[in-house]
Amino acid sequence: MTIRITKHKATEDFLKLVQEKADVNLSSCYQCKKCSMGCPVADLIKLPPSEVIRGLQLGAGTELLNTDLIWTCLSCETCYSRCPNQINFPAVIDALKSIALEKGAAKPAGDAPLFNRLFLNTVKSYGRVYELLAIAMYKLGTGNLKQDMGKFPMMLKKGKIAILPPSGANKDKMKRIFSKSAQNKGTEK
Ligand code: SF4
Ligand code: SF4
Repeated sequence: MTIRITKHKATEDFLKLVQEKADVNLSSCYQCKKCSMGCPVADLIKLPPSEVIRGLQLGAGTELLNTDLIWTCLSCETCYSRCPNQINFPAVIDALKSIALEKGAAKPAGDAPLFNRLFLNTVKSYGRVYELLAIAMYKLGTGNLKQDMGKFPMMLKKGKIAILPPSGANKDKMKRIFSKSAQNKGTEK
């Protein structure tokens, strides 16, 4: 895919912003492409990890917020583990995702942001993800009530999903993390 890089003042600090949010230094990337070659979703996306980094190095700005990898990335960290320079690319994706949401520029594939929000809401409430609640809310939100329901009994039988909410997590600590994150983003109510 070709990225059209628009150089203007608003994009000048974009690389700096992404690097700060992700706590990475992208200048050490020498485009060996080992990250892209190992990425399990590389065939599904227009811009693989190494090209996202190249775009940032060359001065791409908010146009990168439209890249489909932001919402397709599985956070599997294969790219990170393959990188000879230990560049934490999943953190770059998280940074781009966060900026896209802050700027209202998210153009996600499908219902990924809805799932993301519901997943995090259960973590915020229970200290850990409550999969059953997240899935139920997701189904209500998307209207796909029957999708994959046939797998539910088998998942229950194999202990892959729990009926009861998770217990034992430090909920207060988790709430503090969410509160701090909201403060940092200036979105705390
Ligand atoms: S593996 Fe690391 S150095 Fe190689 S292209 Fe990817 S990010 Fe850059
Ligand atoms: S973390 Fe995301 S970008 Fe990296 S290899 Fe996995 S799916 Fe690809």
